[in-house]
Amino acid sequence: MKVALLGIVHESNTFVKELTTLDHFRKSRWLFGNDIINEYKHAFHEIGGMIEAMDEAGIEIVPVMYAEATPGGMVTTEAYEQLTEKMFSSLQQALPVDGCLVVPHGAGVCETYPDLDGQWLTKLREIVGSSMPIIGTIDPHANVSKLMIESTNALVAYKTNPHIDQRSAGKEAGKLMADFLSKKNKPLQFFSSLPLAISIEQQFSEKDPCKALLNLAKEIGTREHILSTSIVLGFPYADVKEMGSSVIVISNDETAGKEALLDLENYIISNKELFNGVKEDISQLLGSLDECKKPILLLDMGDNVGGGGPGDSTYLLDALEDAGKENTFICVYDPKAVESLRNSQEGEEIELAFGMNPHGNLTRPRLVTLLFKGSGVFDELKPRHGGQIHFDMGDMAIVKTIQSNVVMLTSLRVPPYSLQQLLAFGIDPMKFDAIVAKGVNAPIAAYTGVCETMIQVNTPGLTQADMTKFHYENRRIPLFPFEQDKISTHVD
Ligand SMILES: [Zn+2]
Repeated sequence: MKVALLGIVHESNTFVKELTTLDHFRKSRWLFGNDIINEYKHAFHEIGGMIEAMDEAGIEIVPVMYAEATPGGMVTTEAYEQLTEKMFSSLQQALPVDGCLVVPHGAGVCETYPDLDGQWLTKLREIVGSSMPIIGTIDPHANVSKLMIESTNALVAYKTNPHIDQRSAGKEAGKLMADFLSKKNKPLQFFSSLPLAISIEQQFSEKDPCKALLNLAKEIGTREHILSTSIVLGFPYADVKEMGSSVIVISNDETAGKEALLDLENYIISNKELFNGVKEDISQLLGSLDECKKPILLLDMGDNVGGGGPGDSTYLLDALEDAGKENTFICVYDPKAVESLRNSQEGEEIELAFGMNPHGNLTRPRLVTLLFKGSGVFDELKPRHGGQIHFDMGDMAIVKTIQSNVVMLTSLRVPPYSLQQLLAFGIDPMKFDAIVAKGVNAPIAAYTGVCETMIQVNTPGLTQADMTKFHYENRRIPLFPFEQDKISTHVD
């Protein structure tokens, strides 16, 4: 037996103006054939789990193509066409196969195809025909569409956020494939798109309300005939019809599958108020920071790189410095600032403007000392959000402001998923009073065990936590928390 492996992963923030091009995929990951196996066989990534499951079942895996770019603006039509053309022409060479393991993200948006994932999965279905199993994983930040469901036999979302179980989700999908091919189980897929979008800071899987919800899904997953349950939290930063939360159940029995789906839907809808949350601004928090156990992790929700934020906001650094705070760390994406330090020497004092305020204006220049400059390549070998091993921040520099705050400047956008981002460059995170990480939940996996206090800060930007502040034209209506009084409390 032979199973093809193919994937395109992008989480597209439609509020970001800069589009995601082929070059962004090239600078991140665009792999073919055995390069995919070499990159992921030992990684905590879903592909690693799929390889493991196929090995265990004695099924040959045929790696076709895998492409991924850092979350950002919509994918250009050219990038989409080129990626899919290369992927499907490589697939043609791999045929015949007995099944396809797929790795979509589920929140990809192309400028011409708002449902990027549904589009390529549908095309794949057309190529391989209706009888071939297409089974795969999605990110729980997917905005799941009907096309994604109709073109696949089973989709499995990761069950943690930060996503530290991607490998096991991949293995779960691989086992569904192996059981399908050995005729042990024929999965049926049940899907419900909910009239609710879970607020981003309420999506942390180690705390309620998300923890209780995921526990319920796990419990329902142990029922007879239930093969997999997925809570898809959703990605609020895409103005698409599918934006919001949903539920997927895989079962080998129609009645059991529908019942499980209904139980999950009803739990979420009847507890909907819990999924909205309270948002705190830095001005409300500054007064109490001194009493918190240090180091404090300040999560910059408005400039969440893993949600497509540019990663260049100095909003929190400005607020901390204005309040006289010292001894903090922040990473800021600013290739121009890095380039401007080309002729500077380590130890030199320079007046440097870097980053942006969230309104797109350059921030004030600061007197800084250059501590380090060089290549920003590092590896992460532990299970961390995203499941990647190799990271590249491009050319980078580390400077210290006159107020003794350390700033890492990068020329590629890299989300703060790994402590190695600091450790590999001789920076000890334990020594800071506060560390600003541009994310909401994902960085928590890296900073647990280091930061005694973690605070999600409601900051402005293209990933601001309060989704009701965005202007949507395409989302479904009614949708909680927008039309709060129009959502019924029960599904029949
Ligand atoms: Zn995600």
